[in-house]
Amino acid sequence: MLLRRMFLRAKLSLPFFASQLGTSRAATKPRRDFFHELGVGQFINAAEPFTALSGAPLSAEVAEAWQYAAGRSVRLDQVHDAVGKRIAGLIGSEAAMVTAGAASALTLGTAACLTGMDRDKVRRLPDTSGMKSEVIIQRSHRYGYDHAVRNCGIRYVEVETVEELERAIGPGTAMLHFFNTNEPLGHIKLPEFAKLGNKHGIPVLNDIAADVPPLSNFSRSLKLGCDLVAVSGGKGLMGPQSCGLLYGKAGLIKAARLNGPPNSDAIGRGQKVNKEELLAMMVTLESYFQRDHDTDWREWERRVNAVRKAVSAIAGVTSEIFVPEIHYRCPHVRIKWSEEKLGLSVAGAIKKLREGEPSIEVRPNTSEGLELGVWMLRPGEVEIVARRLTEVLRKG
Ligand SMILES: *Cc1c(COP(=O)(O)O)cnc(C)c1O
Repeated sequence: MLLRRMFLRAKLSLPFFASQLGTSRAATKPRRDFFHELGVGQFINAAEPFTALSGAPLSAEVAEAWQYAAGRSVRLDQVHDAVGKRIAGLIGSEAAMVTAGAASALTLGTAACLTGMDRDKVRRLPDTSGMKSEVIIQRSHRYGYDHAVRNCGIRYVEVETVEELERAIGPGTAMLHFFNTNEPLGHIKLPEFAKLGNKHGIPVLNDIAADVPPLSNFSRSLKLGCDLVAVSGGKGLMGPQSCGLLYGKAGLIKAARLNGPPNSDAIGRGQKVNKEELLAMMVTLESYFQRDHDTDWREWERRVNAVRKAVSAIAGVTSEIFVPEIHYRCPHVRIKWSEEKLGLSVAGAIKKLREGEPSIEVRPNTSEGLELGVWMLRPGEVEIVARRLTEVLRKG
């Protein structure tokens, strides 16, 4: 009831992100103010959908799906099947499954390549004895999240060139792993990498966790021949932070399901998703595929321009718009000034914004200026951010 009311109010009063919860924090009067009660401070997210910042604000639509599921008992595998089918239909993949984040998608996708439908192997992981257990990756594609792949007991084989990759392929090769964001850093780009996997009959997994938008990245990996793709639910899709998605070849998704919950003797048992996550992720995907992405882009530009206009009034301060190439690909703003002239460092400004009222989080980078993401802002917040920035920069 409460959610419905908030939904209606939001819908009536907000032209953009019409389904976003609340016009401002003050407008949303909760029955019980939990964070206040706990002494947990809130903030305006002018950074990114970072995990440690609790991800993206959930839309009322998604929260409604969550709440709908919460009060109902269902057979979990049945929901898993139906939601997977619906999502696969949207993406245009053979199959899909909701996971506990992109990291879980990496683990379950890898496990699928190791075990197939062999239940005995499923029970044995992360002991990979008697299984193909080598994963080939380009050296420049090693990253923090590859821990999720190593969880399965695999051994990475690092290569740099096509020749090295082909030489590394052998009877022990289970999977080829690609980190989409680092595509420009590797010798082998995705089209060729995927083709090599296809040529040798080895499944290719691409991690595009934070690389949506653009929407086209969903299908790009499939068109190029990837067998499995991992995405975060709570980043650019702005769905629940506890969700992710694994999609691709039907046989592999089936094997990934065998390695995941609700099965108890499986490597993914601790990466539980329940009916709430399943429905919420389905609605997240439905709205992402329905929404007008050009309108979103224009709104982000409007916000960037609002910030730039506000700070342009301050002597010695300049600003620019920037769009990260792959990861978090949407308009951002970078503000620069002379630290000596203003008597303020970028780190100092970040601290003042965080400690001010209301508290504001921005990107943690300090090397090129003060950087803000605007896509996690809720209606009305960009004006607050612009005002606080002006105050902080004026006072120095
Ligand atoms: C964030 C991220 C992950 C983990 O995603 P979760 O949805 O938080 O589990 C994996 N890979 C990359 C490249 C990421 O950016």
